[in-house]
Amino acid sequence: MNGASHLPYGGLVTFARAEAASLEAAWQADIGVLGVPYDIALGFRPGARFAPRAIREASLRYALPAEGLYDLRSGRMRLAGRTLRDAGDVILPALEPELARERIEDAARRLRERASLPLFLGGDHSVSYPLLRAFDDVRDLHVVQLDAHLDFTDERNDTRYSNSSPFRRAVEALPNLTHITTIGLRGLRTDPEAAAAARARGHTLVPMWELDQLSSVLPRGRKVYVSIDLDVLDPAVLPATSSPEVGGMSYAQVMEVLSRTLRSNDVVGIDLVELAPQLDPSGNSNLLAARLLVEALAELFG
Ligand code: MN
Ligand code: MN
Repeated sequence: MNGASHLPYGGLVTFARAEAASLEAAWQADIGVLGVPYDIALGFRPGARFAPRAIREASLRYALPAEGLYDLRSGRMRLAGRTLRDAGDVILPALEPELARERIEDAARRLRERASLPLFLGGDHSVSYPLLRAFDDVRDLHVVQLDAHLDFTDERNDTRYSNSSPFRRAVEALPNLTHITTIGLRGLRTDPEAAAAARARGHTLVPMWELDQLSSVLPRGRKVYVSIDLDVLDPAVLPATSSPEVGGMSYAQVMEVLSRTLRSNDVVGIDLVELAPQLDPSGNSNLLAARLLVEALAELFG
């Protein structure tokens, strides 16, 4: 176990006590973690740049031993023998968005070469655009997006690369990105042009009031990239996010969507974005994010 401590509050900090591994070196692992501490593209409350470190810190509570984690429900050891590496964070410029996108894309490509499952820790949601560019070779790529917001706006406040637009930019740049399923939509700020454009492209929009139709709309048997915007959760469950919207999903509902998606498709990558740790001094939001990721990995790898 890396970090020379079994205590969740001791030792060096990596995701779930994964072995640290540089993207400059050659290695192979089942799961590779990469932080993207970038939040200069968000339109409301800042702070997501602090999320990768906060998630790693919280994830020490779910440190992954070689024998795996005992699952009371199934009686099985989950993730036993799976290799996990933490590749650290993308080296980002302070205030150069275009250069940042290039660095994020390049790091994501390097991680894909090394890990069967690349797991990206954002960052605001704008990072999903450069991350998806690193998947430009995946034919018929589907995105499953959990989010209170559509993030398909062409332009807002004279900005085209904010956290309101990652998937609009992605479909423009990536002809292989054929479909997006967005789950958990709500709120009163939806851009009508964005909604019309998403529908015109045939995207599947699942607002909160249609959540009961999930079983018939989730993709099956596809190459899927999963993008988890934590504001899909109700802010009573997860307050530490930039743009909270009341009336959101419970943790169990989110895990149900993730479980079905991860088990029924060939998952090529996962990102988790929009955690702003300083907005929840209790630290519960960070713990939720960490547990959600470890539980999702257990669903994916058994
Ligand atoms: Mn989003
Ligand atoms: Mn959102």
